[in-house]
Amino acid sequence: MSLDEVNVELQGRRARLKALADADVTNISAVYSMGEELGRGRFSVVRGAIHLKENVGYAVKEVENESLDDEENLEALETEIKILRKLRHPHIVNLKEVVTTETFTYIVMELLSGGELFHRIVEKGCFPEEEAQRLFAQILMSMNYLHEMNIVHRDVKPENILYCSTGANEIKLIDFGYAGIWSVEKPLTGLCGTPDYVAPEVLSWYDDDETGKPYGKGSDMWSMGVLLYVILSGCSPFNGEEEEQLLKLVAEAKYEFYEKEWEHISAEAKDLISKLLVVDTADRLTMEQTLAHPWVWKAVERARENVTTRSIEAAKQNPPTAQVDVHINEDTSAKATASCSSCTIL
Ligand code: ATP
Repeated sequence: MSLDEVNVELQGRRARLKALADADVTNISAVYSMGEELGRGRFSVVRGAIHLKENVGYAVKEVENESLDDEENLEALETEIKILRKLRHPHIVNLKEVVTTETFTYIVMELLSGGELFHRIVEKGCFPEEEAQRLFAQILMSMNYLHEMNIVHRDVKPENILYCSTGANEIKLIDFGYAGIWSVEKPLTGLCGTPDYVAPEVLSWYDDDETGKPYGKGSDMWSMGVLLYVILSGCSPFNGEEEEQLLKLVAEAKYEFYEKEWEHISAEAKDLISKLLVVDTADRLTMEQTLAHPWVWKAVERARENVTTRSIEAAKQNPPTAQVDVHINEDTSAKATASCSSCTIL
């Protein structure tokens, strides 16, 4: 490729970045006072920030534009932002705006100051069952909402579930960096996620040999099975010295309910986990079946009422003003799935 062609390509990518943004500024500090680091991802740093005019705190995901010169990274960010723009749910992080400068792209989200579920599990060791039911029901509410919109998260894990504030028990789902749009005609492809939580059918793309099987919403159901195991026991169901070993156990759904951690946990909880951690997706519980499972249905009822009340309150506070264009066209969805075929598992 000639230098001219490279430049044209780069300009095209920069134009796509600007098209993603709600605002293009010379310096972010004109709009936000940037604060301390809250967390870090593969290509981003998330910082606390205060909107100078509003005097309100937000979480800002800062992505270096240079990292978006790579087509796959740019496509992934485009998909993440397009999906975030679609979402409005009490248990999903809310996007405020996207701002670009010459060097960075900033995704401004509501600030969730209560920390990661991961840290609560580490602190507590494990959750008592009633608390786990309330927590899992909220997670199910967010995932059910996504699945109804044909969005598959593909990276459900305790690091991606944040508490709204310290001491509170309300959670929200974050990180749509791997999320994909599913349809019958275009199921998802590619290796995405995190080894401990990844579903066997997603692992079929591990060798990147294009012989992987397309997959769908069931992959999130598997991850939720792993998540529930971790919440209740404080341990991972799949452990291996090496990644290869771990992934072999995942592929065969080889795990146990060890006496030490599980002897006081109800048979219903174990039943739910064992019906989610099933290799064959046709035999794995669906979202509907999970919501109705005896271990969790009562907590689901309460979580549903809470979601309805909170959605009504939110609609009163922020009546829709203009229709935001949230349509994700077929091309983009195709790219989103294709871009993941080379994702490396973390
Ligand atoms: P990954 O590489 O895992 O996909 P990422 O670059 O997409 O990561 P996120 O997972 O979205 O980044 O965020 C990284 C960390 O930043 C989170 O684990 C969390 O600790 C913190 N964080 C993200 N969003 C928020 C938020 N809205 N409020 C507070 N902290 C946040």
